[in-house]
Amino acid sequence: MLVTNSMTRLFDMTRMINSDFNMDHILQVLVDAIGDEIAGADLVGYFHKEDGGTFRGYVGNKLPVDIKELVIDPQADQFVRDILQEAHSQYIADTNVDKRPDPSKVALLHIQSIYGIPVRVNSETIGLIFIHDFGKPMNLTSEQMDVIESFVNMASVAIKNVYMFDETQRLLKQQDMLLETTKAMAASLSTQDVLNACFHYVGEALGNGDVAIHIFDESDQTFRPYHIAESSRFSEVEWKNRHRAGIRISLEKDPLFRELVTYEQAISISDVYSDARPNHEACKIFDIRSMLLVPLKAKGRLFGAVAVVSVGQTRTYSRIESDLCQSIADITATALSNTLYAENLDAMVKERTSELLQANLTLENYVKELHHLDEMKGDFLSSLSHELRTPITAIKGAIEIFQRGYLGELSEPQLELMNTADVATRRLLNQVTELLDFSKITNGNFELTKSPEEIDSVVSEAVEIMRPLIDRKGQLLRMKLSVQKPIKVDRQRLLQVVLNLLSNANKFTPDKGEITIVSYADDSTVVVEVADTGIGIPVEKQKYIFTKFYQVDNVVNGTGLGLSIAQNLIELHGGRISFVSTPQTGTTFTVVLPVDDTAGETKN
Ligand code: ADP
Repeated sequence: MLVTNSMTRLFDMTRMINSDFNMDHILQVLVDAIGDEIAGADLVGYFHKEDGGTFRGYVGNKLPVDIKELVIDPQADQFVRDILQEAHSQYIADTNVDKRPDPSKVALLHIQSIYGIPVRVNSETIGLIFIHDFGKPMNLTSEQMDVIESFVNMASVAIKNVYMFDETQRLLKQQDMLLETTKAMAASLSTQDVLNACFHYVGEALGNGDVAIHIFDESDQTFRPYHIAESSRFSEVEWKNRHRAGIRISLEKDPLFRELVTYEQAISISDVYSDARPNHEACKIFDIRSMLLVPLKAKGRLFGAVAVVSVGQTRTYSRIESDLCQSIADITATALSNTLYAENLDAMVKERTSELLQANLTLENYVKELHHLDEMKGDFLSSLSHELRTPITAIKGAIEIFQRGYLGELSEPQLELMNTADVATRRLLNQVTELLDFSKITNGNFELTKSPEEIDSVVSEAVEIMRPLIDRKGQLLRMKLSVQKPIKVDRQRLLQVVLNLLSNANKFTPDKGEITIVSYADDSTVVVEVADTGIGIPVEKQKYIFTKFYQVDNVVNGTGLGLSIAQNLIELHGGRISFVSTPQTGTTFTVVLPVDDTAGETKN
């Protein structure tokens, strides 16, 4: 009968605990079943293991005291120690003979005989079941003990299921939270957003809003208060002020933070005052009792810490809680290093931009100043050449009067002197005229006077003017002119250009050298080429040839303005001038003028 009842109970229990995921419920069913099974058992209690290794009353049956107040400490109870060590149930028939149980419990509950069974899940004892009498022996039979063990084993399976269920739920919740944290961090644009998200999720994970972040300064090996959650007891100003007033977290003096930096792992402290590592003075200032310190690491470097503190009473942060907090800190660290980098970059770009703007402004001022100087120089040149032209013309006239003998016949040496003066004056006048042209052209006060002209006749005129000089150097002059059709040009100015090219060819070609001048035309252009077998222009200097006042060497008389003026004049005609030159071999200048001179007209 007993066996049948037991079987029915076991069957009912199996059904019930397999459909229930509430641990309290399962344990209550277990405790009740045992109570029903053992007629002589006055008291049945389940004690659940606590973090410190003690066992606290959880559910009971017929107990005279609140079971939740009962704590069994294995240190003080040899009987419990033996059960734990052997992981097996034990029975004491008479506590007067077997004195292993904690005497205070024996006295409190008038225990005479006691049966203790471990509740084991995944090879770990998670709780203990005690069955005992109240002042009289139980006389348990081995059959009864076997049945009770079957009950406990059955319940263990159910508890294991509950654990697994809870664990799965917890992991799911944790995953959800981490996913949400990651999303929030990804949406965070500023450092403050990242911090807020971190504070929010750490607070939620631990059910504690007292969260702050300290930043590690590698240069002086200290941690500085960075930001604190709004949900904290302190305002950020107050928090920082208290730090400033008397707390300096340096690795040298603070073993807790030193450990954090050394091992880069979360540290949980249940009671700061029974732990030598934390700075007790700081704990007093902030009224801290327990704490969880989690490292912030990004790109392989620890750069700060998340601190969660509990005020007033102690609190133990479980491994699971600290792991979750570490995961949130890891996500925070990456996001934080990114926003800090971006903000730094932003600041750097802003700084560089302002530097550039500054430099630009300075440069603009320089350019303005240079323009101004250039204008002043232009004005100076133009007025100077004006001023010079009149007296030079007067001198030239005077020389002519002497040369022609209007003031009496000159002696041979006198005439020679006058001729020399005449050549020098002419050259001077040419140079002054060149200067004046140049300043007119560059000031934009220059106009071409165009009329239909035969280019070959302009070239021939230039050659005639230059012939004495060419002959003087014994140079061979070749001419091949074939442009008869007139085009519209400013004759004087074109003559000036060809003269300049011929004069350069003459100047820069040694005695007995050759000068060739060619003209030809097609439908759209007229070309004039002046080639010489002279000294040529060094390759590295060629790009400066058209620059005003530029001379390769100052050995030959000139102003360095001729080619610059020539280029301007040709461009005013809508044409272009170019050259090829080989040092020691010769130079060829090419002038190309448009037949259709509308381009020239517009420039007028
Ligand atoms: P300059 O009045 O000094 O002749 P230009 O502007 O006419 O000034 O010429 C500039 C410089 O170009 C000359 O000083 C000379 O060094 C070089 N140059 C011009 N034409 C020739 C050439 N045909 N052969 C060699 N060098 C030349």
